[in-house]
Amino acid sequence: ESVVNRIAAGEVIQRPSSAVKELVENSLDAGASTVSVTVKDGGLKLIQVSDDGHGIRFEDLPILCERHTTSKLSAYEDLQTIKSMGFRGEALASMTYVGHVTVTTITEGQLHGYRVSYKDGVMENEPKPCAAVKGTQVMVENLFYNMVARRKTLQNSNDDYPKIVDFISRFAVHHINVSFSCRKHGASRADVHSASTSSRLDAIRNVYGASVVRDLVEIEVSDEDAGDAVFKMGGYISNANYVAKKITMILFINDRLVDCTALKRAIEFVYAATLPQASKPFIYMSINLPSEHVDVNIHPTKKEVSLLNQERIIEIIKNVIEEKLRNSNT
Ligand code: ADP
Ligand code: MG
Repeated sequence: ESVVNRIAAGEVIQRPSSAVKELVENSLDAGASTVSVTVKDGGLKLIQVSDDGHGIRFEDLPILCERHTTSKLSAYEDLQTIKSMGFRGEALASMTYVGHVTVTTITEGQLHGYRVSYKDGVMENEPKPCAAVKGTQVMVENLFYNMVARRKTLQNSNDDYPKIVDFISRFAVHHINVSFSCRKHGASRADVHSASTSSRLDAIRNVYGASVVRDLVEIEVSDEDAGDAVFKMGGYISNANYVAKKITMILFINDRLVDCTALKRAIEFVYAATLPQASKPFIYMSINLPSEHVDVNIHPTKKEVSLLNQERIIEIIKNVIEEKLRNSNT
């Protein structure tokens, strides 16, 4: 049974960067205003995510890493919401089957926190009282220690650290009221260091630099007369002056970081047709629509999504971008 669990867990947590993404999403779900990430050996040796969120109650610690344990699903109606956010209560559990997980946490009003380690879904020991400031720190050590082939592949391939930095950069652009940092273990300088701000452009400047911000224009559209299918989109796109080797597409749907290949292709197409000299744009786009209109297909933790009425939505977005580019080009 433990082999089956391990294989399943290795599907949910495919690489160090997927573990980081899940941990950071947990911190954000816990209402954190500061999230700090530390990584050693591309995440294979150590991933540490610390937040100042609401913490985990003592009585919840024993089942924290059991599969399907989630505090984010209170009513049956929420089942619709699951669809938009992938499977629930799988991430932490999965990490305990393929790595060594230690959680340190304190909840509001407590004098001390607790530290506890997990293995294969269960606590390895009783939670030990310890000093703690606010929130939660999750440490994952020796990821894939029991998956020899996976570990080898990851060791030989390019280090996952750039992917981790990329994820944190994207989160920092969307969650502008949260401070993020991401560094290699022992490094004095952080590779992402984004202070909380009230300005989206400041956040983008913090992470991607002033030269990117200079070439951005704002886009916005809402579609509220299509029956109950309320659709809103806002963001920034690069103009004719932005020239890059590859497209940067930061897409959040209902505040979840996702990929939508069809939408990305459509946007690339508009740029190629409108601004061939700047056809690899920088795009930050946040879309909100009823959660039952978002379908996480393929696999629970794959970021790829498809949307109900996808063609219509893509058409609307294409038109908005095209108009914006034509206007900013003249
Ligand atoms: P999910 O996020 O889908 O609920 P996870 O396995 O990622 O499942 O986490 C399980 C549960 O552990 C969460 O529902 C939450 O209650 C708790 N949890 C995990 N990380 C944190 C954190 N950083 N702060 C507070 N609670 C957390
Ligand atoms: Mg989670």
